[in-house]
Amino acid sequence: MTATIIDGKAIAAAVSQDIADAVKQVTAQHGIEPGLAVVLVGDNPASEIYVRSKTAKTAATNMRSMLYKLPASASETELLDVVERLNQDPTVHGILVQLPLPPQIDPRKVIEAIAPAKDVDGFHPLTAGLLSTGLPGLVPCTPLACIMLAKRVHGSLAGMEAVVIGRSNIVGKPLAQLLLMENATVTIAHSKTRDLPSVSRRGDLVFAAVGQPEMVRGDWIKPEATVIDVGINRVPDGEGKSKLVGDVAFGEAAQVAGAITPVPGGVGPMTIACLMLNTLTAACAQNGMAAPQIR
Ligand code: NAP
Repeated sequence: MTATIIDGKAIAAAVSQDIADAVKQVTAQHGIEPGLAVVLVGDNPASEIYVRSKTAKTAATNMRSMLYKLPASASETELLDVVERLNQDPTVHGILVQLPLPPQIDPRKVIEAIAPAKDVDGFHPLTAGLLSTGLPGLVPCTPLACIMLAKRVHGSLAGMEAVVIGRSNIVGKPLAQLLLMENATVTIAHSKTRDLPSVSRRGDLVFAAVGQPEMVRGDWIKPEATVIDVGINRVPDGEGKSKLVGDVAFGEAAQVAGAITPVPGGVGPMTIACLMLNTLTAACAQNGMAAPQIR
């Protein structure tokens, strides 16, 4: 193995400590206690785990954590009512509705009901529009996490060839926008891209966000490139249990890359740290203050 492992867990812990310190200062100096409201509908076990770790991290970064649980049978109107109450509540600075939602609820309607100023997930179309036009606004957590990790390796990404594999609204597209803002030269690849391995080999930076276990092979990577693996895929471990793997064949890619994120322990923990950062940013913006610079 030649690549440096980008330890997302350790970097997230350091960033979270900076956020916790900044929150303490904002609370002491301005009397603002940033608050994140998480709404969970139903009892999807994976969602419960995600929500638990988000609420624990909120408290650990000195912010107020509020959890709203609705039964799986909740109607769309009931959920929209909760979102509207949270929109109006001045002690709530960030609102996150955990996805997926039960089939009777249209996630698009719910996302569009969240006040853009409190849209800490960054999924609202207005948030996407602000990002794509370079105007100030919240930035989706996972793409922000990817940029922060890449910048830990390189400092500046200016002039680098970046290949983003995946064009979803929540990862690939906003990530490409952020890379443009960092002055990288960006290629966005997807399921219709011709000769994906050679497109991927152009990248000084390769971001894999496809949801296909270990799809990106070692010979898709340019020597010494930095590989950021967004994928989270549960696969059989061969011993009757399951394990998590990314969208990159880690063992192969690590032989070629200069630096690489592991799964788990890469983008995942950093995404949660970025949710905390967005909550602090939102609280500052809602009080007419600039957010502390945390990188
Ligand atoms: P998504 O909405 O399913 O989008 C997947 C994208 O990958 C699409 O643009 C699709 O292309 C492309 N794609 C799929 N198969 C492909 C193939 N064989 N070749 C080339 N491109 C292909 O997924 P997502 O929400 O962006 O998530 C991607 C992965 O990131 C998933 O594993 C997800 O679990 C993970 N994720 C992790 C975090 C985290 O915190 N670490 C957060 C969010 C997501 P088309 O557009 O052409 O269909």
